[in-house]
Amino acid sequence: MGEAAFVVDAMLGKLVKWLRILGCDVLSVSEVGNIDENLLEVARSEDRILITGDQSLFQMAWKRRIRVRYITGTNVTDALALLSKAESVPLRIDLSKTRCPDCNAKLIELPSDKVSGVPKDVLRKHLWIYLCENCNKTYWLGSHYLKMLRTLIEAKRKRDGKVNHLNSGKPEKSGPMKISDGFDS
Ligand SMILES: [Zn+2]
Repeated sequence: MGEAAFVVDAMLGKLVKWLRILGCDVLSVSEVGNIDENLLEVARSEDRILITGDQSLFQMAWKRRIRVRYITGTNVTDALALLSKAESVPLRIDLSKTRCPDCNAKLIELPSDKVSGVPKDVLRKHLWIYLCENCNKTYWLGSHYLKMLRTLIEAKRKRDGKVNHLNSGKPEKSGPMKISDGFDS
């Protein structure tokens, strides 16, 4: 299965971060510029799927036969469910594939004792720190992580047409990975 690459418009900034965490190659208006023609050109020349919440941009792309997905509303769970179904976006976090939420570069995994510039209590709690070599931001599995897993479970249910059964499969609170909290910087 070839992995789809995306370019996402300014209305869907939150989705950009999500897709990068899920390992997708995503350009946003930060890299491309917030200009319709730029978004269309990058989609066309780099064979990226344009994701937009803007109906007129959607129509422009459609007329030019650029691959495009129109996302209505701001609900990330719905958007992920749709993109999983339509474009095979994985609804699981594989840290070996995760990209920097801010700049799209791949992250490298470092033992926490090899990292500087991260609060000491974080280093004590986490064996691994994820470093973006491009923008130098560091990440770890912080308090948002469990929340993100819940969002992904919900997105899977929506994708598979099973809604409102949110108590049937609670995510594990602790396991051998000892995930404490979110994917925070
Ligand atoms: Zn980065």
